Amino acid sequence: MSRNKRKEEGQEKAAKKKFGIFAKAIAAFVLVIFAAVIAAFLRQNHAQEPKLTIHRFEETQMTEFWAKRLQPVAQQLNERTFPLKEINERYDFLSVKIKSRYNTGLGADVVLGYHPVHPYILAESCLVGGKTCLRIYVAAYCNLYKIWEENGVAQRDEIIRNSLAVSVLHEMDHLAGGWVREKASDKPYTIDDAVESEKRAWAETCQHTLRVMAEYRYKVLGSDWEMYRHWEECGRDAESPAWDSCIRAIYAPVHNRFK
Ligand SMILES: [Zn+2]
Repeated sequence: MSRNKRKEEGQEKAAKKKFGIFAKAIAAFVLVIFAAVIAAFLRQNHAQEPKLTIHRFEETQMTEFWAKRLQPVAQQLNERTFPLKEINERYDFLSVKIKSRYNTGLGADVVLGYHPVHPYILAESCLVGGKTCLRIYVAAYCNLYKIWEENGVAQRDEIIRNSLAVSVLHEMDHLAGGWVREKASDKPYTIDDAVESEKRAWAETCQHTLRVMAEYRYKVLGSDWEMYRHWEECGRDAESPAWDSCIRAIYAPVHNRFK
């Protein structure tokens, strides 16, 4: 190979390298813009949740809150008059599945207080001696609402409505799929059991409830929106190891408190 040719090749390589760096810079810039647009879109779609302070509520305050802000939503779901047709259809579908699995209708217990284990828990479902149980923790909703009020979150009524619908449908996903803990059982409930149950139930909730809300640009709880984003990032695949790790990271700290 002649020296000139080597020199030419060297120059060509340098030019390619320069172009490569330039192309990478453009790609990085496009990526940053893309990420910023997505972030802006996500910000529009969910509540900005400041760090949660836990407030105390009197029973009368919780009763009033339930009657004014939550009970009408529960009624809409029950009467299939929630503003989104797909959500009513989903509620209907899950009610039928629960009825055929347990041979019972679905009743919900309204708890005027926080969950004994963690004040962030909005709702839970389980089986007690084979009977279905769905509990709604009103204090946790009151707390969120109060914080949004103090921080001037304008769409707090809409977010609380959608959040209750997501919670109820998520718990119904647990029950309909049989991914629930039998409270009367002596068998220990391990973190693996919890992850198995949550990853299946959340996959259903993301795919059939949060996806619909996202399509209609409904404002939802930040943590629900994060869950939906993870679901998309994991390729909407309940079997994906990434989805398992994501659910494990969310539930492990809470699960430890149950022991
Ligand atoms: Zn769950």
